[in-house]
Amino acid sequence: MENLFDLGIIGGGPAGYSAAIRAAQKGLSVVLFEKNCMGGVCLNKGCIPTKAILHCSDLYKSLKKAEKFGINTSDISYDYEKIFNRKNEIVQKLQKSLTKLVQSFGVQIINERAEFASQRGIKAGNDIYICTNIIIATGSKPAEIKGLETDGKFILTSDDVLNLSNLPKNILITGSGAIGVEWARILSALDKEVCVVELTDRLLPVADAEVSKRLERLFKKSKIKFFTGTKIENIENKSVKLSNSQVITPDIILCAAGREPVIPQGLDFEKDGRFVKVDENFKTNFDNIYAVGDINGKLQLAHSAQHQATGVVDYITSGKNVHFNKESVPSVIYGAPEIAWVGKTEEMLAGTDYKVSNFPVSALGKAFADDEIDGFVKVLSVDDKIAGAHIVCPEASSLIHQVALMIDNNLTIDDILKTVFAHPTYSEAVFESILGLDNLNLSLPKSCI
Ligand SMILES: Cc1cc2nc3c(=O)[nH]c(=O)nc-3n(C[C@H](O)[C@H](O)[C@H](O)COP(=O)(O)OP(=O)(O)OC[C@H]3O[C@@H](n4cnc5c(N)ncnc54)[C@H](O)[C@@H]3O)c2cc1C
Repeated sequence: MENLFDLGIIGGGPAGYSAAIRAAQKGLSVVLFEKNCMGGVCLNKGCIPTKAILHCSDLYKSLKKAEKFGINTSDISYDYEKIFNRKNEIVQKLQKSLTKLVQSFGVQIINERAEFASQRGIKAGNDIYICTNIIIATGSKPAEIKGLETDGKFILTSDDVLNLSNLPKNILITGSGAIGVEWARILSALDKEVCVVELTDRLLPVADAEVSKRLERLFKKSKIKFFTGTKIENIENKSVKLSNSQVITPDIILCAAGREPVIPQGLDFEKDGRFVKVDENFKTNFDNIYAVGDINGKLQLAHSAQHQATGVVDYITSGKNVHFNKESVPSVIYGAPEIAWVGKTEEMLAGTDYKVSNFPVSALGKAFADDEIDGFVKVLSVDDKIAGAHIVCPEASSLIHQVALMIDNNLTIDDILKTVFAHPTYSEAVFESILGLDNLNLSLPKSCI
């Protein structure tokens, strides 16, 4: 059997399904291949299930300090099996609604593993689908690390840990990127003993150094142990020897260090390291085949995958170049308080003429009302325009978009200050940090400006 389509998409994660919807909206006939469940890592093993669990762990943590707020509570406890089941129900519900959403645009979904039969031919099951253009959106999987091979029992991937309906007491996490930090915060909020081992010299090495420093303080406050500049030397009978000579005996190890691309078979793609190499319009070395999302290794974030995907469809349908500026894509680390950043770090700006302003949220009435005073909003500017922002503060995941808009639209400080920021909100910290670039803070004493 032979089928003809304008666009074939391999992978039904955020990149694949967003491309499918946009392409169908633009009038293309679309076929999408998904070998597992619609939604990809994001919905099934990443963003959504972790946030469903995180919501419960945050709620438990808040309830434990309810008495401080004048609310009488006693015997606060949790049932992890219920948290686990709730997480699964949310994922299943969203899988169904996502499938319906994509089908509502007339996209044909084929639930099969796909591979290339030729440059225009996709083979799935016994059928070949001929597609004028093809988008590969097959994502990534946890990387195997030599000497730390996962077995699903003692050494776990981030996929495995989501399948545990009961959590053990002692957990060692290797890697302090987004996944490692998020799980450290979830597990610690659930009263687990957590130890994080990070190879580089600071936690969250992708973030601005000041964010890393604050995270270290927050980890200490939460009694999360961590060792930076350290790696696992060897493991014998569940006894883990670290390179700093410490020996620890965790119940499980969560290996949260790195992901590798999943590349469909059948064609020889040019690579950039392990990832599929693409040009600025996400075209591979085959002129009708594009690679978007985790597979190209540019940024492993769902919103980045979605943006690339819709950009490529617009390029295919209208010839408009894809606008993708890696630096203006916000990054968020969830948990309390949230951490988010966009644009350049101070390290990136070293050697250039830039201004920095760091506003402590402890100067906000709202932060006192919420008992959330441990945080800051730091902005960096170059030539009177915002170059980056680094936020540790409740609602940082939303606040960061204010700054992303400022950066993407090249707004000057004068443009930004035309806007009135509501009181009392955490947005005032963004406003104040921008005022601070010209020493014009309204909420800090003169000695601190
Ligand atoms: C624990 C964890 C937490 C995360 N949290 C966040 C977060 O909070 N925010 C955020 O932005 N990002 C988060 N991420 C990252 C995010 O999940 C990914 O960046 C995103 O899912 C990438 O989307 P994608 O469409 O490129 O690939 P994927 O989501 O990986 O989807 C690829 C799809 O392709 C399918 N596929 C692969 N090969 C084939 C084939 N040959 N044939 C058919 N189908 C195939 C797969 O089954 C999969 O469904 C998290 C990741 C993890 C692991």
